[in-house]
Amino acid sequence: MSDRPRAAVIGGGIAGIAASLNLAQRGIGVILIEREAQLGGNASTVCCKAVGGVCQHCGGCLFRDHLRALERAEGVSVFLQTHVERVERREGRLALLCERAQGEALSFEVPAVILATGFDHISPLAKGPYGYGLLPHVITGRDLEALLQGRGRTACNELPLGKVAFIQCVGSRDEHNGRGYCSQVCCRYALRLARVLQESRPEAEIAFFKMDLQTSGRDMAETWAAARGAFRIVAGMPALLERGAEGKVAFRYEEVLTGRQIRESFDLVVLATGIQPRADAALLAEQFGLNQDPSGFFATAPDGVSTLVPGVFAAGCCQAPRSIAESIAHAHQAAQACVLYLGGRA
Ligand code: SF4
Ligand code: SF4
Repeated sequence: MSDRPRAAVIGGGIAGIAASLNLAQRGIGVILIEREAQLGGNASTVCCKAVGGVCQHCGGCLFRDHLRALERAEGVSVFLQTHVERVERREGRLALLCERAQGEALSFEVPAVILATGFDHISPLAKGPYGYGLLPHVITGRDLEALLQGRGRTACNELPLGKVAFIQCVGSRDEHNGRGYCSQVCCRYALRLARVLQESRPEAEIAFFKMDLQTSGRDMAETWAAARGAFRIVAGMPALLERGAEGKVAFRYEEVLTGRQIRESFDLVVLATGIQPRADAALLAEQFGLNQDPSGFFATAPDGVSTLVPGVFAAGCCQAPRSIAESIAHAHQAAQACVLYLGGRA
């Protein structure tokens, strides 16, 4: 990097990569700090879910394209296995005192920082009565994704796919857990996975159990309308998952529309767990002097990217739940605000 770095991006997931690329394309030197040994974060775990050769727009390609672009980009210095230990204000600049693997100390002084620290998956154990970890045929969408990524579509042959239940909103829309919000991505995600299962086993009976559906966003209403033709959509949530006969999972639910109590058994149950702020979000907020919203995501001004601390911006899921495509768009917005801020200081 020829000039002094003018911005640091903290977090090397899809939002951090997109923000770094955007800044670099505008000639701004970037320090990209990632605490793990490789870039990618949650987006790197997404496998292709094309069905019948038709793309389901899961965002996996977007991630891989961005990673390749970053490898070619000039002006971005990547620091892996590095995390921020302390932040100081020095004459209007931000000094990031970092630690690398093996205890090596590093420090960077920059006028602006974009936080792109991503999210954690809500633990399926947050819903104890769903029996995750106790009932062998209760898995999460993430588990299914990992199976598909590791073994490809042949993984479907090893799953009991006679009758499958997807249970939505596991840990989200749950005021008791302090997560009254919709995680935004898990409906689409579960639908894509269901189509992959259905392609492998067309005779599989797949049902979705939901308290509510995510209908905002482009094409979402049409997406659910199409899903109603392919799957059974049940307005009702299971109370307690139990071991049923022949290794099945049994549960009772109240059908919202009729008030009927129904008990049903499934060969496989897939829990749609949502998104929550990272475990270290409070620490980062304290280090940078940021506010968090009531759910723990970084609070921003009405533009959605500027925090209340001058020169500090938020991109992607550290600010609110988003898909890969939405995280990229949000990162561009954060980079744009950062550029305007830097321009004002030039
Ligand atoms: S966007 Fe997703 S489903 Fe579409 S081709 Fe890429 S990885 Fe596959
Ligand atoms: S996206 Fe769907 S499954 Fe996820 S919290 Fe929202 S309504 Fe529930």
